[in-house]
Amino acid sequence: MSSNEPASGPTNFIRNRIRKELEAGHYERIVTRFPPEPNGYLHIGHAKSIVLNFSLPEEFGGYTNLRFDDTNPEKEEQRYIDAIREDVQWLGFDWKNECHASDYFETLYEYALHLIDNGLAYVDEQDGESIRAQRGTLTEPGTSSPHRDRSVAENRLMFERMRSGELPDGACVLRAKIDMSAPNINLRDPVIYRIRHKAHPRTGSNWCIYPSYDFAHGQSDAIEYITHSLCTLEFEDHRPLYDWLIEHLPVPSRPHQIEFARLNIDFTVLSKRRLTRLVDEGHVSGWDDPRMPTIAGLRRRGFTPDSIRNFCNEIGVTKSESTIPFGELERHLRDDLNARAPRRMAVLKPLKLVLTNFPEGETEWLEAANHPQQPDMGIRKVPMTREIYIEQDDFMEEAPKKFFRLKPGGEVRLRNAFIIRCDEVIKDQAGNLVELHCSMDPETRSGQPGAERKVKGTIHWVSAEHGIKSEVRLYDRLFKLPNPGGDKETDFVEHLNEESLEVLNAAILEPGLDQARVGEFFQFERLGYFVPDPDGREEAPVFNRAVTLRDTWAKLEKQLR
Ligand code: ATP
Ligand code: MG
Repeated sequence: MSSNEPASGPTNFIRNRIRKELEAGHYERIVTRFPPEPNGYLHIGHAKSIVLNFSLPEEFGGYTNLRFDDTNPEKEEQRYIDAIREDVQWLGFDWKNECHASDYFETLYEYALHLIDNGLAYVDEQDGESIRAQRGTLTEPGTSSPHRDRSVAENRLMFERMRSGELPDGACVLRAKIDMSAPNINLRDPVIYRIRHKAHPRTGSNWCIYPSYDFAHGQSDAIEYITHSLCTLEFEDHRPLYDWLIEHLPVPSRPHQIEFARLNIDFTVLSKRRLTRLVDEGHVSGWDDPRMPTIAGLRRRGFTPDSIRNFCNEIGVTKSESTIPFGELERHLRDDLNARAPRRMAVLKPLKLVLTNFPEGETEWLEAANHPQQPDMGIRKVPMTREIYIEQDDFMEEAPKKFFRLKPGGEVRLRNAFIIRCDEVIKDQAGNLVELHCSMDPETRSGQPGAERKVKGTIHWVSAEHGIKSEVRLYDRLFKLPNPGGDKETDFVEHLNEESLEVLNAAILEPGLDQARVGEFFQFERLGYFVPDPDGREEAPVFNRAVTLRDTWAKLEKQLR
């Protein structure tokens, strides 16, 4: 792992179990795998699985494989494989081996023949619907297929014909012969191979039959000598099948499947199927839209690998499902960036302010600390001129008593500069505010006798002459509902928040920020944490607001619940 401390991670039931097993000498080392299907980008739910799978071997000794679970050629694409690699690395993890379930197609085929030869699998020519109808229910046993008792020789011949390509899609399937009245429906002769005439990104047209998830997954684990196969709770019911296959096949090792609860986050959806729809239907600009809960989206939004790993460690690993507020993720980002982000000044919605007693045409370079608590982050010079911009919100003409920013006749300190007084409010003929005329008190500059003079408010500002015009994008929750996917009555896209993106075209940044590169982050004083967006150019920068300074959502969210 890169910059963070060793993963002497938070304790959880999986870690406790592994520690006991190691103490009892069951294993010499831990081998795990992260097994994404390359049919979309990784999301924050995957990050939970990644952190778990990579931290355990880091702590106890061993390693983690990255395995692409590429057994379904319909939806899998190379660009997803590339994005997954990039995201896992960006999170700070290195895999020992990159594996692909498709590398094992030949071995898996031989395993299938092994089952056939031992009378443990048969070819069924019924269609999918009939097979499903015969599975029975939780209270009723299934019905045996009329083909269940074919001879080994006939099954072998049929399976070889399935492979040869002479049969069309759906003509027949290979089923494991287990127990049609097993209480666990997954054991009622599950389908383990299907015919699918579709080229595969890695094996091309070598195969026209593909193994089912259940048949490929556990055997891939065994081939890779995985000790602990960690997956989410929906596979708990598949574990008896996982174990049955491992037991009846000549596999080189015996992995153990352990299930944990998936991560849910409110106001978003964590399912590749749904995220794919958001992208395909253009509800977002792409997989890396900063509003997406994908790793690529969070990265572009301004999230750091540390903040995501810390979040995953803190939420922990349990067996019960829960939904974590999006604000928790933001809190970790805030904590991380508060400690590390250099401070800058930027005005998002500018209001012009003229310092009437500041000499025309001059620039005074004032010293400003890059971080109030971290002197080693140094100081920089910020230009003060006669004309500056302040935030529209920092002025109020008819201000209530408690408004400690600028009001007519009132005083305020300009951050890193001096105290000013608002002498005159200039309006156009229609009565719209045009600019403020203020006078500065030069005695209140740093180092001057009045430097310590206190006024109630301090506001940020940027020189009109030196400021950099920029686009700034503000993001809000992608959905209006805490659980947009959970309402069966309506389609989840109907709950999209139309105000999740606000684009400000006239923001003014402190000079120097036009040189900022993607990957850097800043605190814009009093506003939040911001990062350059890849859409920006040096002459036309674009910044994203990663997160606000305070959690303004916590309150609002309570009202919505
Ligand atoms: P999705 O529902 O988004 O399509 P998936 O489980 O089908 O997710 P995979 O690519 O198969 O996606 O997942 C790779 C690994 O990540 C699996 O081990 C899976 O259990 C885990 N994973 C996926 N979603 C979550 C989640 N929300 N929380 C924790 N782990 C998850
Ligand atoms: Mg899946």
